[in-house]
Amino acid sequence: MPKTKTHIKINITLAMPLGVAILFFATKSNITIISIFLLSLLYNTFVLNPDLDLARYIKPLSLRGFLYFPFIPYSWLFRHRGLSHSLILGTITRVIYILLLIFFGLYLWNVFNYASIGIREISSIYLKHLLWFIKSNKDLLLTVFASFFYGDLWHIVLDKYNTN
Ligand SMILES: [Zn+2]
Repeated sequence: MPKTKTHIKINITLAMPLGVAILFFATKSNITIISIFLLSLLYNTFVLNPDLDLARYIKPLSLRGFLYFPFIPYSWLFRHRGLSHSLILGTITRVIYILLLIFFGLYLWNVFNYASIGIREISSIYLKHLLWFIKSNKDLLLTVFASFFYGDLWHIVLDKYNTN
């Protein structure tokens, strides 16, 4: 299994320049889309990648431990190199997980501020907001997801063919 440092090195030196070149020359994307792509790919490289299935083993008192902390339950759910290391499906599990984390955070915030609102009401309000957000930010969200998928692709291929 390649070390985290190898994944980071390969992503920064190969995946990022190639991804930007593809966006710039093949799809003629503008600077906003390219920036969103790069930021998402950086987040994918350092945090939101298939190795989140190891989050529970990261030393808690480190920067990585801090960034991985919200994903410890994710690593309880997915055994190492299982579903989290499968193309598209693995990416989808992480996107859904993040959405659930955001929902949970917002839910707690609501419980503390408006104790009378039930979870069903809150869920329907957030679902409406989420659908509205998806509708009005399609390009942005598609870029973010494509970037996560692209980063995961590099990760999975490297896991398969590099053993140090
Ligand atoms: Zn891996």
